[in-house]
Amino acid sequence: MREYKIDEVKQIVRPELGNQVPLELFRILRIIGMREILGESSGAALYMIGKKVGNMIGAVSLEDFKNKIVELKIGIPEIELIDEDHIVVKLYECITCAGFPYTGEMFCDMESGIIAGLFERVYKKKAKSTQKKSWSTGFNYCEFHVLLY
Ligand SMILES: [Zn+2]
Repeated sequence: MREYKIDEVKQIVRPELGNQVPLELFRILRIIGMREILGESSGAALYMIGKKVGNMIGAVSLEDFKNKIVELKIGIPEIELIDEDHIVVKLYECITCAGFPYTGEMFCDMESGIIAGLFERVYKKKAKSTQKKSWSTGFNYCEFHVLLY
């Protein structure tokens, strides 16, 4: 199976429909489709996909990190540097969960992975991100705790 590059997927020829899709479609694929097909392993698999995406896109600084997250419309991040190995990212308007009703479970694993992948490129260290808050657990933003190691 061939591995495709970002430059290839960026080539879009849709003169009438353009390069945007309804968020509803993304969420059907992401929250319903992927979870149904991947089952219990969906969290880990989506995190790994996100990490790969974050690594491929890359970021060179915290400013660049923020810009990439906003440009891709993943959300609006607010970064809090706790110490040299710990970062908290609040994500407003999260692509996956913003507006979602309370379900008691968190599922923004791909976003968590993208955040970790981007930070790995910023800091040139390994990063592990864990989701701590979500619209689906009663907050009006998503929150990720990142460990650099
Ligand atoms: Zn979220």
